[in-house]
Amino acid sequence: MRNLVLGLKPGREKSLLRRHPWIFSGAVAFIQGTPDVGETVEVRDSSGRFLARAAYSPSSQIRTRVWTWDEAEQVDEVFLHARLQQAIHARRGLDHYPPNNAVRLVHGESDCLPGFILDQYGETLVAQFLSAGTERWREQLSEIALQITGAEGLFERSEVDVRRLEGLPDRSGIVKGASPPERIRIHENDLDFQVDVYHGHKTGFYLDQRENRLKVRGLAKSRQVLDCFCYTGGFTANALLGGAKSVLSLDSSGPALGQLRENLVLNDLPTDRLEVQEDDVFQALRGFRDRGRVFDMIILDPPKFAQTAAQAQRAARGYKDINLLAFKLLRPGGLLVSFSCSGGISEDLFQKIVAGAALDAGVHAQIIERLSQASDHPVALNFPEGAYLKGLVLRVMG
Ligand code: SAH
Repeated sequence: MRNLVLGLKPGREKSLLRRHPWIFSGAVAFIQGTPDVGETVEVRDSSGRFLARAAYSPSSQIRTRVWTWDEAEQVDEVFLHARLQQAIHARRGLDHYPPNNAVRLVHGESDCLPGFILDQYGETLVAQFLSAGTERWREQLSEIALQITGAEGLFERSEVDVRRLEGLPDRSGIVKGASPPERIRIHENDLDFQVDVYHGHKTGFYLDQRENRLKVRGLAKSRQVLDCFCYTGGFTANALLGGAKSVLSLDSSGPALGQLRENLVLNDLPTDRLEVQEDDVFQALRGFRDRGRVFDMIILDPPKFAQTAAQAQRAARGYKDINLLAFKLLRPGGLLVSFSCSGGISEDLFQKIVAGAALDAGVHAQIIERLSQASDHPVALNFPEGAYLKGLVLRVMG
């Protein structure tokens, strides 16, 4: 065993004592030995006391991510097996799994596996290795995940900005076992969806919105719905199943809209109540405003506008813009279901932005529900950054 030690500057152990798993480069006093990328180092405070074992990321501002706070624990295959087993078994107790067969099995830091994302779509696992540490253990993590789940193959979609910060290139392809079919049919709350894990966003589908899609189903009855940033139709299908009078689905991606149509046909949903528009949401909303078109329910589920807190200001303008326009397009009594998945925008700030939008739109609105990410995307109490998705269900007063 190599003796690799990362020593912290005096006083910089505080966040670690609260069990926050990230150590930033500015906290590091010295590194003893020459750890390879992703290799495990012992983290010690300025008096030499053991704090944690962590994965070394020389290129990243997040210089190490903690694997364990237990000095007796070594980071090896036995360790990874135990961690994966714990995360995967925890999902069995969640009410949506089964019969639903698409689930997030590992949610990174919040499941004590920093930088590792693992989703299951039927017989296929899709992973993202987001840190130098998980990259180093890629083969073993894949093997163990297949062993525990009995899935047929593990596909990788490690094409995420944070890998660049870790000095890692994008990578996509089969890691182990059988290649997934072009389309995987998944089941989610009485609906089926086709998922393209090769080209789809993230690992293929927005599993984090599962419970919010159900919420929309329950609110859509007899409403004229506008689904903005609709992707492959998660909210659209649920609104139609919930008895929406009509749905207008809007996205800038032609392929996503093609899949949306396929998904509706797959579920025998009434496409005569559907209108699809391939367009930029910012422009389309202005067009509706200028033509006086109105709705009873608008869903805004935009992509991440801010990657980091530093980009929050520009992102805030984007959120304000679309929420303001949406408020103007709603009839009295209409519902706005508005999301932000930007980690850099806190729940508090998001509410303030939406409040500012309502004020400028000249409407009075109430929050009738707060939404967040699905329960298979848990947030460890020591890792508040894990809470990235926030949503508000708002009612416009007459
Ligand atoms: N609501 C979806 C997920 C939305 S993901 C679900 O539950 O499955 C964000 C979507 O926004 C993507 O499909 C992307 O193609 C689309 N998009 C990004 N920028 C856009 C823009 N300016 N105008 C319209 N669509 C956009």
